[in-house]
Amino acid sequence: MTIAIVPVSALSRRASGLVQSPPLSVYVHLPWCLRKCPYCDFNSHETDGELPEARYLDALRADLEASVPQVWGRSVQTVFIGGGTPSLFSPESIDRLVTDLRTHLKLAPDAEVTLEANPGTFEREKFRAFRDAGVTRLSVGIQSFDADALQRIGRVHDRQQALAAAQAAAEHYPTFNLDLMYGLPGQDLAALRADLAQALAFSPPHLSYYNLTLEPNTLFASRPPEGLPDDDTVADMQQAIEAGAAAGGLAHYEVSAYARPGHRARHNLNYWTFGDYLGLGAGAHGKLSFHDRIERTARLRHPRRYMEAALAGDAVETRRTLDADELPFEFMLNALRLVDGVSAASFAERTGLPLASIARALARAAERGLLDPDPGTIRPTPLGLRFLNDLQQMFLG
Ligand code: SF4
Repeated sequence: MTIAIVPVSALSRRASGLVQSPPLSVYVHLPWCLRKCPYCDFNSHETDGELPEARYLDALRADLEASVPQVWGRSVQTVFIGGGTPSLFSPESIDRLVTDLRTHLKLAPDAEVTLEANPGTFEREKFRAFRDAGVTRLSVGIQSFDADALQRIGRVHDRQQALAAAQAAAEHYPTFNLDLMYGLPGQDLAALRADLAQALAFSPPHLSYYNLTLEPNTLFASRPPEGLPDDDTVADMQQAIEAGAAAGGLAHYEVSAYARPGHRARHNLNYWTFGDYLGLGAGAHGKLSFHDRIERTARLRHPRRYMEAALAGDAVETRRTLDADELPFEFMLNALRLVDGVSAASFAERTGLPLASIARALARAAERGLLDPDPGTIRPTPLGLRFLNDLQQMFLG
């Protein structure tokens, strides 16, 4: 199949060809943690005593009420309650939050509702009650089962708590995720294999496995920990994870994600396929499509300022309509993370731009062996996944 080439610059500055809305998700940010981890660049804030749960929930409800007109009538497929450490909130608060979402939005009957939880004892005791509050899927921030590694990366939980939390998630949830990291200080290939084997012993339906990176403006960026494995070892670890997960029945479906059949993270899949999401809570980002534009929003980041602004009726700090020439990169940034890629038709469906607008970049990427030449799909080759940044940048406007 030959695709005619139309430069994006020849198109209208804004995408305007969206025939139908993409699936809609909701992200809710709960921004507090017991202690800031030294590698963390998320919008998370150490608690200084009692959490202002009731006031924060009031602010979320006000934020939700102000946002409803933007998604009026649309069905919500997935909800993700992330943080921070959402499991610090009481089950009663999570119940109230899920009820507020159900009252104001059209939640699909089979909606996936994920809550991020940390393995502390105080939190583990609430896992079952979170399920009764409407959470259908738990994502547990284990990071490692190795006592020494947990200490070196500054986590507040220990090995015993990690084991107990994974066990409790398996007992109470038909589907759950264990969040793990590799490339940890002091970790060698044997230690990585032991950690993976321990995780697989719980038969997790889903694993997320992230490489520890030193993000700017974190404690680790200014004072890197000792004993970080070199690049070759980290690459060997990635291969060991892929092989071990496959042997355990979990297919590698996204750069950092592995799942049993039927247990892929629907919420994340919606991000990766350029779906829409309403972002509520401090610092939450959102992306919504309208017939004439695609908008990105960001809420105020600091919890106190967020609560004040939301209760006063508008917590949005920035609202930006994406230009047509930004859309190919935005789309590819996510879609190319998927091992199976996406259908070529979904590019036009989700961006409103003709596939012809990226024909030249697609052809170049296929020539370099980074993309599958099948014209019906946009799928990275194994080489493309290895050099993902290079591949994504070929679609910059
Ligand atoms: S628990 Fe998670 S969100 Fe909180 S500081 Fe640590 S890494 Fe960041």
